[in-house]
Amino acid sequence: EAEHGTVLDLFRAAVSRAPEAAAIRYFDGELTVAEVDAASDALAVALQDNGFRQGDRLGVYVQNDPAFVIAVVAAWKAGGAAVVINPMNKARELTYLLADSGATALLCLDELHDSVAREVLASGATRVSTVITCSAQDWRPGAAPRAGGEALDMLGIVERNAGREPVAEPPSPDDVAVLTYTSGTTGEPKGAMNTHAVIAFNAQAFRDWMGLTPADSVLGVAPLFHITGLVGHFALSLLVPCPLVLTHRFQPEVVLEAIRRHRPTFTIGAITAFIALAAVDGVSPADFRSFRLVYSGGAPVPPAVNQRFLERTGHYVHNAYGLTETTSITHLVPPGARAPVDPTSGALSIGLPIFNTVARILDDEDAEVPVGQVGEIAISGPQVVPGYWGKPEATAAALPNGELRTGDVGFMDADGWFYVVDRKKDLINAAGYKVWPREVEDVLYEHPAVLEAAVVGAPDPYRGETVEAFVALKPGASATTDDLLAHCRNQLAAYKYPRRIELLPELPKTSTGKILRRALRDR
Ligand code: ATP
Repeated sequence: EAEHGTVLDLFRAAVSRAPEAAAIRYFDGELTVAEVDAASDALAVALQDNGFRQGDRLGVYVQNDPAFVIAVVAAWKAGGAAVVINPMNKARELTYLLADSGATALLCLDELHDSVAREVLASGATRVSTVITCSAQDWRPGAAPRAGGEALDMLGIVERNAGREPVAEPPSPDDVAVLTYTSGTTGEPKGAMNTHAVIAFNAQAFRDWMGLTPADSVLGVAPLFHITGLVGHFALSLLVPCPLVLTHRFQPEVVLEAIRRHRPTFTIGAITAFIALAAVDGVSPADFRSFRLVYSGGAPVPPAVNQRFLERTGHYVHNAYGLTETTSITHLVPPGARAPVDPTSGALSIGLPIFNTVARILDDEDAEVPVGQVGEIAISGPQVVPGYWGKPEATAAALPNGELRTGDVGFMDADGWFYVVDRKKDLINAAGYKVWPREVEDVLYEHPAVLEAAVVGAPDPYRGETVEAFVALKPGASATTDDLLAHCRNQLAAYKYPRRIELLPELPKTSTGKILRRALRDR
C-alpha cells in the first residue's frame, strides 16, 4: 500500500525509523542514513547562504558518488529541485541544460571546475552563480576537504555547516523534484518534470513488487542521473532504507569487486551492463549468490543473452519497461515469473502493467487495436510526468490528455502480457518490406561468437533502405562476416537478413549502456 507525500517525506520517515542503517556503500566507505541526512542539511544551508531560494534548481553534474545522493536531497531541503546531468555531456550540452532549466547553482567534479567556469559559466548564457565541487574520493575513508579556490568544496561545506538546519517550505507532491533530460534523439533535449508524486509512486512500486526490506542492498549499475538509476537505485534505497552500493561509474571489473565486497541483493540496469559483467574473466555463479533479483530495464533483452547470463551466473534477468517520461517502470515481469516468448518473433515479453497503470495499443488514428495487433504503446498512470519543463507544445504532443505516446510499437497478448516490437522511428523500409531491427539483432545474438549487435537501415539507391548490421565479437571469439551472414540467412526471410555486416571492436553506447543505433546509422 503506497504511502502518500513527497520523496523527502519518505526519506524523513526512513531517517526516524533507521538512522543507523547504512545508506551508501562506496568502495571501502560507508554512510549511514543519519549521515546522509546531516550532510544534506549542511549542504542545503550552504546553498541558501549562497542565494538559493524556494523553487530554485541545483544542477547535479557528477557520477555515481555519495555527493549525488546528498546533493539531490539537499536541493529538496533548500526548497528547490535538482537537474540531473549526464557527466559525459560537454560544454555546449551542459550550457544548454543549465540555461534551459534555469539552474542557479551547480555541483560538479573538482577536476571539471576550471573548464566549466571557462567554457560554460563565462558565456553568460546560464544563471548559475554558485559552484560547488566534490571529488570521487569524497566519503572514502581518510578523505579531507580540499583547498577550495573559487569554488566551494562539498566536504568542507558539510564540515563547516554541521548541525545547522535549512529553513524552507516543505515541497508538495506536485512540485518538481528532479528534471531529467531526454537525450534529444528528436530535436533539442527536453526536461521531463519528475515531480515528488511520480518519483514517490514508482520508488514505492519498486519496493513493493520486489519486496525490498532493510535487509536488502541495491547495486547501482545504472547511472543515477538516468531515470532507471534515479528511481530504481537512489529513491528506492532512500525510502526502504537499504544500502546503495555505488562505484563512481560502471566498469565491469570494479562493479564485480563491489559485488564481492558488499553482497548486494537487487539490481536493475541495461542488459549491456550484465553482458559486460558476465564476460569478466573469472566470474562465477558464486559471485552472484547474494542476489535475490536481477532486472533489466531501458532496452530490449535478447533471449540468447538472457540464457547466457543464466548459465554464467545462475540468474534469470527479469525484464522491465519504462521511459524517462514514466519515471522508469510501467511494466515488469513479476519476481520469480518467466517472461512469455512471442511465438512469431521469439521476443521476450516486457511483462505486465504495474498497479494503477493503464497501457493501450493505438493505431495511427488513435483508436485502440484488438488484442494481438501491433500499434503504438500509450501509457497513463501515477508515474507519468505532467510534462516537459517550459515546453507546452512538446508536452501537448507527447502527452495528449495526460496519456503518454511512447514512440514504441508493441502489442498485448490474450493473457495481458505486453511486447515491444521496436521503436517506431527505427523501422527499416527495404523496397516496401518492413523490417524491425530488433528481430534481426535477436538472431545475431544467437550466434555463439556475438557479444553485441545492432541493426540499422542504410540508404540504398534501389531498395530505398537496406538492412545493415554491426557486430562486436566476444573477446577471443572468431567468426567472419560470412559466418554471421550464413547464420542470419538460415534464420530469417530473404528480405530481413543483413545485406552488409561490419565487425567493430565495440558498439557505441549511451552512458546508460544502450546501444546507439543512431550513431551507427550516421556512419
Ligand atoms: P531519448 O532520451 O532520446 O528519448 P531514450 O528513448 O533511450 O532516449 P529513455 O527514456 O531512457 O530514452 O528510454 C525509453 C525507451 O527505452 C523506450 O521508449 C523503449 O524504446 C526502450 N525500452 C525501455 N525498456 C525496454 C524494454 N524492456 N524492452 C524494449 N525496449 C525498452
